[in-house]
Amino acid sequence: MRLQYLMSDDQTSAAGRPRDSLAAIASLVRGEAAVWLREPGLGLAVDAAPLTIEEVEDARARFIRFEPVLSTLFPSGGWDGQIRSELIAYPGSGAPNLLVKCDHALPMAGSVKARGGVYELLCHVEELALRRRLISPGQSLEALLTPESLAVLEARRIVVASTGNLGFAVGLVARALGLQAEIHMSHDAKTWKKDRLKSIGATVIEHACDYTGAVARARSSAEAEDAYFIDDENSRRLFVGYAAAAAELAGQLSARGLTVGPDSPLIVYLPCGVGGAPGGVTAGLKQIYGQDVLAVFVEPVASPCVLVALAAGQGVPVSVYDLGLDNDTIADGLAVPSASPLVLQAIGRNIDAAVAVTDQAMVQWVRRAWAEAGLRLEPSGASGFAALALFIERARVAGLINPTATPIHVVWATGGSLLPEPEFSALLASDAA
Ligand SMILES: *Cc1c(COP(=O)(O)O)cnc(C)c1O
Repeated sequence: MRLQYLMSDDQTSAAGRPRDSLAAIASLVRGEAAVWLREPGLGLAVDAAPLTIEEVEDARARFIRFEPVLSTLFPSGGWDGQIRSELIAYPGSGAPNLLVKCDHALPMAGSVKARGGVYELLCHVEELALRRRLISPGQSLEALLTPESLAVLEARRIVVASTGNLGFAVGLVARALGLQAEIHMSHDAKTWKKDRLKSIGATVIEHACDYTGAVARARSSAEAEDAYFIDDENSRRLFVGYAAAAAELAGQLSARGLTVGPDSPLIVYLPCGVGGAPGGVTAGLKQIYGQDVLAVFVEPVASPCVLVALAAGQGVPVSVYDLGLDNDTIADGLAVPSASPLVLQAIGRNIDAAVAVTDQAMVQWVRRAWAEAGLRLEPSGASGFAALALFIERARVAGLINPTATPIHVVWATGGSLLPEPEFSALLASDAA
């Protein structure tokens, strides 16, 4: 263990409290839940690679341009091609003002990856189509569906590594567009996701290693084949795709008559793997709400890669193995031992809290969200609920939430609607809880 690293005085880049950081690490090492909080009052620190307004606007416009293409490729139920999820009020006995952002039910992929992973794929397809003059700038993208265009796309290969959901989302949409898809899966990936990809003609390469190892192998394979590599550890495009979700949430909050401000801060609970999805959403929300939004990243106790990086305070990834943790978790979507360096640079200084939750708590919430709200979630997708009470308690004590304020809590449900029935019933019946 490298605890002396965490005890160094140089906490400047993360600005957490060293003593709290040590306490959080000690809990993790015991396999218990942990909370890391940013020093209150520090406000908006300047990140090294902040998101620009233009990038987000570009993303929103690109998603709109692709709507007719996606709705043609995925015609089920008269879908209009919008990658959008509902914001609902949680009906049970949870905290008051508890809302749920239903990305577990996003079209095509059934997870938050329909935003970032699919966005990067669309960027590449559009870029390729312009370069090969399949379309001209400003022209409708429906021309992508002509036989001449499809012949060009068929010759192109996309490579990605995944613990399951990113590969599933990218593979599904890439194949629908006719592209070759080579998906490198870490040992965490569920069999049904791999089978489904194989059945639609994706090449699934199964690795016995963890996610970080699968990314490295995918990267070298892509270089050798001159394929397009979607790099979950370093991709600005992925990050920007996720960031576009912020404006969607803002519109939904206003439609409910909710105003975010100092007296009613927005607190978002974001399940976190490598950090791209929660990082992008946070960057987008900070652009809109500044200090009035608090971003809580939620990770499994065995894979808290962003928590340990923030606690170490150097602004660079730290491997959870260095702390004696094993990255073995039921939350396959979050089983990542080392955070994205790009995310730490682009938003690390603005992450307000990182909460690590137990597998048991996630499974309990899979059951509870189903029983109380009819939400079909996988453990990763339910983790935000498990962090809520832990965060509120600590944040009030630490003064991160004003005692007179009435926060609006949004739990981001990030995956699970496509879980096959046997998988879901097994979760409901498992005695992990
Ligand atoms: C991938 C994923 C996340 C987190 O996204 P990262 O970009 O890896 O941080 C959260 N929930 C689910 C269900 C996921 O599949």
